[in-house]
Amino acid sequence: MSISRTSVYLDYNATAPLRPEAKEALLRALESPANPSSVHAAGRAARDVVERARAQVGALVGVPAGSITFVSGGTEANALAIESAKAAGVERIVISAIEHDAVTETAKVSGLPVEGLPVDNHGVADLGWLAQAREKPGKTLVCLMLANNETGVIQPVDKASALVRAHDGWLHVDAVQAAGKIAIDFSTLGADTMALSAHKLGGPQGVGALVAGTRATVTRRLHGGGQERGRRAGTENVAGIAAFGAAAVAAHQGLASLAEQAQWRDALAQRVKAQGAIVLGEGADRLPQTLCLAGEGFGSEVQVMNMDLAGIMVSAGSACSSGKVKASRVVEAMGRADLAPFVLRISGGWASTEDDWIKCGDAWLAAWKRIGARRREVA
Ligand code: PLP
Repeated sequence: MSISRTSVYLDYNATAPLRPEAKEALLRALESPANPSSVHAAGRAARDVVERARAQVGALVGVPAGSITFVSGGTEANALAIESAKAAGVERIVISAIEHDAVTETAKVSGLPVEGLPVDNHGVADLGWLAQAREKPGKTLVCLMLANNETGVIQPVDKASALVRAHDGWLHVDAVQAAGKIAIDFSTLGADTMALSAHKLGGPQGVGALVAGTRATVTRRLHGGGQERGRRAGTENVAGIAAFGAAAVAAHQGLASLAEQAQWRDALAQRVKAQGAIVLGEGADRLPQTLCLAGEGFGSEVQVMNMDLAGIMVSAGSACSSGKVKASRVVEAMGRADLAPFVLRISGGWASTEDDWIKCGDAWLAAWKRIGARRREVA
């Protein structure tokens, strides 16, 4: 089902619509199916497609093609990083309190001791805590995402990396939400590994990448053929990878125009704040297209349903895969457990317009007014 022109899609942090460049690359690759491991001409052409995409994805984050391992998405990239760090001898894991479940759940089953890195009330990781934690003996894996999926708050990864490196630790960065929305230079971040996902930046679902720096050895997770230089067995998703590459190029070119979307986001924020809504993470650097707001007493699920009825597609702060809405763990970690059940996430992207943001604000304010009137009737 394609999204109708009358509805407004502002749920890019859940998944971004496929970019036309990505669609074209996807269809082109599907038209001439071949296994990149085949030695015949068609196989060699498929290999070229994969290697071109590898260079394109690498260019998005400032690394050579050889640093990229293609996987099935952000979840697998995070898992591969954690398993690689474990194989390299890390003895414990520190994860920020706002990491995605893909990181927290994988850390939990790793068999290693896990500690939570707290965030302040803006949703920014507490580096003072990290500095102290680093004094403990033993090689540590620190997982700190680059930008949070609910609030858009950007984390001080470069500063964290100095602390981690000083103690010979391993820093893994989940950049699934940041990639294609802000400029990323992997070497400036100083990370060892970084997770990327195509569908968050306008590529298709089911393809992602693990970026590995020179200090990191990527372990073999899936066994079988020697694909991805032995790091991940299984015939490559050639069409998905081609589309990921094309989306990465387009996203890179579109960074400046996406940055301008912050003004539409902030205009919406001003309107809803004037009527009593609270914006989370506003005091920190954020992705330009993410807005996390809370309307006290206006449950996340009810907000999402009201918006949907008005033709506006947005998310609760945290949507789990079952489709049920849970109170936001991220907002709780920010010290606002009182607001966690009332959070709404609005996230635009490459095809969003100013009109989308205005309509979204109109719909939210109309619903907020109705809820307020109902509450006054009951009182
Ligand atoms: N990490 C973050 C921050 C995410 O927002 C998501 C998806 O929502 C993932 C990882 C998982 O990515 P994928 O859906 O590609 O497995």
